[in-house]
Amino acid sequence: MDKKEALRRFFGYTSFRSGQEEIIDALLGGRDVSCVMPTGAGKSVCYQIPALLLPGLTLVISPLISLMQDQVEALNQNGIPAAFLNSSLSPQVYGQTLSDMENGCYKLIYVAPERLSTEGFRAVCAKLPISLIAVDEAHCVSQWGQDFRPEYRRIAEFVSFLPQRPVIGAFTATATKAVRRDIASLLELKSPVQVTTGFDRPNLYFAVETPNSKPLRLLQLLDERREKSGIVYCLTRRTVEEVEALLRDKGIRATRYHAGLTEEERRQNQEDFIFDRKPVMVATNAFGMGIDKSNVSFVIHYNMPKNLESYYQEAGRAGRDGAPAECILLFGAKDVHTNRWMIENSDPNPNLDPDTQDAVFRRDLDRLRKMEFYCLTQDCLRGYILHYFGEKAQVQCGNCSSCAAGSALADMTVEAQQALSCVVRCGQHFGSGMIIDVLRGVETERVAENGFQKLSTYGLMRGQAVAEVRRLLDALRMQGYLKQTDGERPVLRLTPEAKSILTGGKKFEMRVPVAPEKPKKRTADGLDTADEALFERLRKLRAKLASRASVPAYVVFTDATLRELSAVKPQTEQELLRVSGVGEKKAARYGKAFLEEIRAYSEEK
Ligand code: ADP
Ligand code: ZN
Repeated sequence: MDKKEALRRFFGYTSFRSGQEEIIDALLGGRDVSCVMPTGAGKSVCYQIPALLLPGLTLVISPLISLMQDQVEALNQNGIPAAFLNSSLSPQVYGQTLSDMENGCYKLIYVAPERLSTEGFRAVCAKLPISLIAVDEAHCVSQWGQDFRPEYRRIAEFVSFLPQRPVIGAFTATATKAVRRDIASLLELKSPVQVTTGFDRPNLYFAVETPNSKPLRLLQLLDERREKSGIVYCLTRRTVEEVEALLRDKGIRATRYHAGLTEEERRQNQEDFIFDRKPVMVATNAFGMGIDKSNVSFVIHYNMPKNLESYYQEAGRAGRDGAPAECILLFGAKDVHTNRWMIENSDPNPNLDPDTQDAVFRRDLDRLRKMEFYCLTQDCLRGYILHYFGEKAQVQCGNCSSCAAGSALADMTVEAQQALSCVVRCGQHFGSGMIIDVLRGVETERVAENGFQKLSTYGLMRGQAVAEVRRLLDALRMQGYLKQTDGERPVLRLTPEAKSILTGGKKFEMRVPVAPEKPKKRTADGLDTADEALFERLRKLRAKLASRASVPAYVVFTDATLRELSAVKPQTEQELLRVSGVGEKKAARYGKAFLEEIRAYSEEK
């Protein structure tokens, strides 16, 4: 069997995605690999296929024990012998699994990093031919990452203890240079093949909104997405509690997750979500690493997160099955303050010297600013994200709220000069609220107190909406002509570059909205031809089969597979096997039921 054959037989896919083949080839050829791929790009297949093809055992090291069971279940469903070892198992089951492992019953074993130091586990490993070690969420080894796990530092020591060094593959979705360097050096990879695939996720629709009332807007969004599964991310535990109570009150089947809940409740709620008993999860960022529920069709951020790394990771949990999905961020100016407060009040990492601590602090504030700009920009949101991660992008993607709203690049040099000189005339002592009032010629007490109605810039933008003037000030900040001080009462100041606009004859351009078209959303190729009525019937059938087998629905087939089934309407097992996501094992297990349902549906029509 070769890799292509394995992909078809065990996973039901006909072609590899970008990067997968390169990684599989390297691992099969005995080369270490360091792989950076965005969430949902398909990292698991990159070590699962080598695991099938290599002679010995593959260890998958993963930090999230709560999710191993799902992953192992999904493999077993595909006919791949796998098991997991972690502290959630009773001593009996643990012992049994260990001895089955010793007897060569498995191709893959998922383990938590802390297992690597236990004696029983080591004794068995020393006796076994281990071909491959896959380190999932490899960024956990680095203290520069978000999720530093000290136990990850012991992986290299474990490897050196093995009689024969297996090939090592490290996988992550977080990709800064420092983290990548740490992964290679701390895991002691041997001149690894570096594979970084594009960060773009074309099936995700990105949107930012600044609603007057977040609760009302959220309810509206969820109402439009009934029957769909999604995550609502909040910044704090308290907000999670409030939002979940609100949704429950309105009869929405929602559950919650944050670090303040008991382990038992977290497990239960996560399961309710995974099994679609409660399709909406309200959570802090404590929820989701390693979640591979593939049918999450929206991720709504109730608050802006602290940086784009977090945002893209969280938002990226939508649409992992490749079907169109939405990532909507509800922005409010208060989010900036809350995040700044959290950064300022978080304990510095004690393993770092004061200089580095200070550098980390300033880096965090800078990242927060770039996150804020994402919420303010009129530019293509996808383009903004891709640029942030160092990738090229088209000017307009056609699949985000900026592109849908429609905008044009406009010469705003005169307006920019007016705004900048207004900031100067107000003494560079005031925040955007005051500058906007002065430019619009509003008579407030504070304007009068400061005598600003006598300024030459007073009322220059009379008749313009607050939002318009604010957009101009935001654009001046984003392009680096104004900066806002940090702290309790942020103040706008000019940067040295502002001179070029005021007196240097430099042009100032920014995007302004043009008459908004009807927002349009792109559907992925072919998906819109799916027969909705049939799709609904197949969904019901899937729910029945899943509950009979006690597995989450998406482990039977993903939404993307159901869509293709309802579009193609296969008649025979051969035709069924050609549908993406239908492997031999699943065809044998579920094929008949689905073919019958499709036949019955066609006859009824
Ligand atoms: P990651 O670990 O990178 O976040 P996964 O490994 O969970 O992503 O894969 C995401 C989804 O993509 C899964 O449903 C997986 O079955 C699917 N997938 C992986 N490889 C392919 C492929 N070559 N063709 C089609 N779907 C794929
Ligand atoms: Zn766009």
